Amino acid sequence: MQNFIDGKWRPAENGSFLTVTNPATGEKIDSVPRSDDLDAEIAIQSADRAFQLWCKTPMAERARLQHAAANAMRERADEFAHMLTRELGRPLAGSKREIIRSADLLDYYAEEGLRLRGELPLMNEPNERVLVTKQPVGVVIAITPFNYPITLLTFKLGAALITGCTVVCKPSEDTPLTTLMLAELFHQAGFPEGTFNVVTGYGREVGQALVTHPTPRKVAFTGSTSAGQAIAALAMQTSKRVTLEMGGQSPAIVANDADLEKAIPQIVGHAYSNTGQFCYRVNRIYVQRAIYKEFVTQFAELAEKMLVGNGLLPNCQLGPLVNEKIYGNSEQQVADAHKKGAQCATGGARLTGEEFDNGHYFPPTVLFDTDHSMDIMTEETFGPVVGIMPFDDIDEALELANDTKYGLAAYLFTRDIGLGLKAAETLEAGSVWVNNIRRSYHHVPFGGMKQSGIGREKSRHALDEYLEYKTIYLGLE
Ligand code: NAD
Repeated sequence: MQNFIDGKWRPAENGSFLTVTNPATGEKIDSVPRSDDLDAEIAIQSADRAFQLWCKTPMAERARLQHAAANAMRERADEFAHMLTRELGRPLAGSKREIIRSADLLDYYAEEGLRLRGELPLMNEPNERVLVTKQPVGVVIAITPFNYPITLLTFKLGAALITGCTVVCKPSEDTPLTTLMLAELFHQAGFPEGTFNVVTGYGREVGQALVTHPTPRKVAFTGSTSAGQAIAALAMQTSKRVTLEMGGQSPAIVANDADLEKAIPQIVGHAYSNTGQFCYRVNRIYVQRAIYKEFVTQFAELAEKMLVGNGLLPNCQLGPLVNEKIYGNSEQQVADAHKKGAQCATGGARLTGEEFDNGHYFPPTVLFDTDHSMDIMTEETFGPVVGIMPFDDIDEALELANDTKYGLAAYLFTRDIGLGLKAAETLEAGSVWVNNIRRSYHHVPFGGMKQSGIGREKSRHALDEYLEYKTIYLGLE
């Protein structure tokens, strides 16, 4: 495939390519441009030209086009899901869910656009009125990671386009294909040339060129904390706004009185979803002493039953990890925990055999008797490994849960609702789930505290991240 710029397919100006491989089999799927500064320049110029008209397009027309794109995604969900599974490895049903939920988010943002309002404060000055209005910030650079390439793009794209911004997206080098397909789909749905462009390549090459270019007014990034911090520093050179959704290391606390029949399946489902390549997954679990042993046994029994394989196979629950580097985190953290005295209840070693040898397969792994000297309890894993540790009283558990530079999500299971609410208020995380683990909803904010992020995506508040306030003082004489 090629870059999608100004409503057309276009190769990298330097003619070079990157190979995209299927992580389940190691086979080449396609190649995409290895773009550089020149491609960034061309894409930004296109987005800037498009912005001059798009920012003046009536909101109702923008909403109509956004609904049309969402409908087209639903119609082509099987085709998109198939490509997503091939480039990412995730089981097909989960890939289809990603496409459908992303389409729903576009619909939600379109409706929120129609509800945007300005203000006219009632100041009672006889010869003056003051109007507070909002304007789109301008060209937006959207930089996305590999793990939910379409969801995490629509978090940005839907809010940017409905508010009148135009977008240049740089997808992950591992999973650029569905993003390129999406750009063409938007164009076919009626979005004008240049409103949504995609350039592919490496972060340190074309990604950096986009972030440092003086024209764009905002960078919306999802990815690792280290890349996000580097991007924010570069973006600040030209005072761009930033939204950063970065790494996580989310704790779950399970108190003695928790309903284990609910808690265990929910935590297992969450910790291993997308093979653990999931920013707000449960990475570490603190279990109160009286139920600790029972919890570890039941948790490991359930984790062990999960089926690992090629995501295109029916019934498969965990696909491969996306590449050898991401795979390496799981192996390294298991070795580190073993060395420091943790025990392994299930998993712990690379899967081998004909079915697995050409991919990066790691089984659901449960480490217990862990502590905070171990990477599994402090560093992001981004793989199918969890650490479990006992605690005695809830204050100790809260202290352990907050003992991290991250602050994306936290989870708590207790039958004492008062304790649940107080603990939720104490936990340093952008979202806290008490007695249930669900996906986040479109109409509530999502994002991180501490080094997990800056700003929020989803909900009506996300639109504000793409709008500039303007105050107009109007003399009437
Ligand atoms: P990554 O940071 O390696 O890459 C993310 C994107 O940034 C890619 O497109 C990459 O090419 C680009 N990039 C990297 N360095 C850059 C630079 N200097 N300039 C411009 N662009 C650059 O992340 P990944 O491995 O693709 O994804 C995994 C990470 O994403 C995990 O840390 C995970 O927690 C995080 N993540 C966070 C959220 C969230 O909402 N907080 C959601 C999903 C993933």
